[in-house]
Amino acid sequence: MRVGVVFSERYLEYDLGFGHPERPQRLRSALRVLEPYFDRPEVVLLEPFMASEEDLLRVHASSYVKMIRGMSVHGTAYLTADTPVPKGVYEIARLSAGGAIKAGDAVAKGEVDRAFALIRPPGHHAGRDYGGGFCYFNNIAIMIEYLRSVHGFKRFAILDWDVHHGNGTQDIYYEDPTVLYFSTHQYPLYPGTGMLDEIGRGEGEGYNVDVPLPPGSTGADFLYVVNQLFAPIVREFRPDAICVSAGYDAYFRDPLASLRFAIRTYAEAGRLVASLADELCGGRVVVVLEGGYDLDGVSKGVLATVLALAGLDGVEEPYRPPEQKLSDVVVERVSRLKKILSKYWGGLAGG
Ligand SMILES: [Zn+2]
Repeated sequence: MRVGVVFSERYLEYDLGFGHPERPQRLRSALRVLEPYFDRPEVVLLEPFMASEEDLLRVHASSYVKMIRGMSVHGTAYLTADTPVPKGVYEIARLSAGGAIKAGDAVAKGEVDRAFALIRPPGHHAGRDYGGGFCYFNNIAIMIEYLRSVHGFKRFAILDWDVHHGNGTQDIYYEDPTVLYFSTHQYPLYPGTGMLDEIGRGEGEGYNVDVPLPPGSTGADFLYVVNQLFAPIVREFRPDAICVSAGYDAYFRDPLASLRFAIRTYAEAGRLVASLADELCGGRVVVVLEGGYDLDGVSKGVLATVLALAGLDGVEEPYRPPEQKLSDVVVERVSRLKKILSKYWGGLAGG
């Protein structure tokens, strides 16, 4: 298996202010642990390109794109209290979206079997005409709409394992039955959305799955959700590609949240996604980086995911993780969701 890793030094070229958790070191530390693997045939470094305005406009309102471009000229304005718009970030955000596109494009063309976009700024909190949560443009949606328009792909599954709910991605696809959005996230936590009953609307009803996890939930809880809900639904959905919004802020040492995933959680998740993709869509997996603010968590987590996608071993736990135990609350929540969703997904009935 060949895995492409998309990265550019330009992703390090902006700063959200002193002490801000979304800092360039996140990517620098991930690159450092990945670097030794670029000598191997299984891991290939790919250069991103700049997303065009046309690429952005497949997802975002032109008034919103214009606003970000304008704010980025002087770099003094804020999108929201935690999301300043630094000078020049418009170009870097386009290169970030273009990094996601490059990952999808390389997979679609068969240049690599799977790809990981090691990019910033992240994207899953950005909707059609809004941003926030350190996000300006929705990278994964821009990549999906590129694959749809350029390569004729029709159906996409998104697994969003960032600790925060991807409200932007959900909003973009809430009424769309061609994109299955599946998110696990800590609740309560920013942005405050992503409840069990948010299942999509209109033609998209049944194609949006939110699994809120209580603080303290572990990797065992998350993997249970993936096995019990994501796997049967995605088998029935039959996507042309499995896309992942991969945040590493559910890692137990992350400063912004209180879930308790281990590094090996990300290796196991990578293997599960890869084997589902092998079964359903020619192995095509496109992973896009979202959050992750502990430098060990994001770097070793990215490495674990990339190695799992490449079929290689090598999980390193920099710190001993807490016991990875399945909780009764999560088992009960999954069974409730199965009842709600079995109306749309026959594979869940009776289970
Ligand atoms: Zn996050």
